[in-house]
Amino acid sequence: MHMLTACNNTSHTAKSEEKAIVVPVFSTDSAYLYTEKQVDFGARVPNTKAHDDCALYLSAQLKKFGAEVIEQKANLIAFDGTVLKSVNIIGSFNPKAETRILLFSHWDSRPWADNDPDPKNHNKPVMAANDGASGVGVLLEMARLLGRNLPTVGVDIIFFDSEDYGKPASAGGDPAEDSWCLGTQYWAKNPHVPGYTARYGILLDMVGAPGATFCREQSSEYFAGSVVNNVWSQAKGLGFGQYFKDEKGGAITDDHIYVNKIIGIPSIDIIHYDPNSQSGFGEYWHTTHDTMDNVDKNTLNAVGTTLMHVVYNEK
Ligand SMILES: [Zn+2]
Repeated sequence: MHMLTACNNTSHTAKSEEKAIVVPVFSTDSAYLYTEKQVDFGARVPNTKAHDDCALYLSAQLKKFGAEVIEQKANLIAFDGTVLKSVNIIGSFNPKAETRILLFSHWDSRPWADNDPDPKNHNKPVMAANDGASGVGVLLEMARLLGRNLPTVGVDIIFFDSEDYGKPASAGGDPAEDSWCLGTQYWAKNPHVPGYTARYGILLDMVGAPGATFCREQSSEYFAGSVVNNVWSQAKGLGFGQYFKDEKGGAITDDHIYVNKIIGIPSIDIIHYDPNSQSGFGEYWHTTHDTMDNVDKNTLNAVGTTLMHVVYNEK
């Protein structure tokens, strides 16, 4: 954290002598299409064809955009003993740059819509337009722009698998918090580059709901408060303050926890938090209604444009 502060101060004084930073314009139409394309494969539940086809698509897109791509395959064991044939997809821009920013999202779909109001749907998979595809869609559009106009820093985009195979509450007993985020836990223990580190990490999770609100999630504040400050203030400066609320959110078990705790990269979670809904994550969360009808271009734009400014302003 001390180093981050020092870097910011230095760049501030140097700014006047350097030419202004040009931030490529984020296209929310293409972010939306990249989101839709994933949903078109069907639910991306591990060990299904839709999942494997989507993995090939994501990897091919990153390559097309000029990233150096690694497909990290692993057999991960779910809470119920199921072997999940998982793949974390890693795309690196500026791979030799020492200063790196890590951007990540999970790309798998939950196998069970266990929060659906109709119990008959509890065993159906979640289409995961918002809870999965939206974050990946934003990052794919960023990848397209990064490849055409490299920023000063290196950027690693990781699509993590098997985040949403966590133990359903209906199974009873121990809630098994660590049954979630399996792909991230694996990567954090076996990073794609030995000794990998980054200045900080940003997780996108459920960044497409109409009128979404992102609050300052508690573990993000604890592990990476200065990153929260930076992202929220840039969002506000860009006119996205109605999405990025200067309010305290919940403490959420999500991929960023393991990136903070296992590999020690200070990381934040940009996650839709709606204190008025029963789950806290909006009415569609883990239901059969998490479809493209509930993905909004304005929300994708608020997140994508903010992150483009965050990344391109790093030195
Ligand atoms: Zn989920």
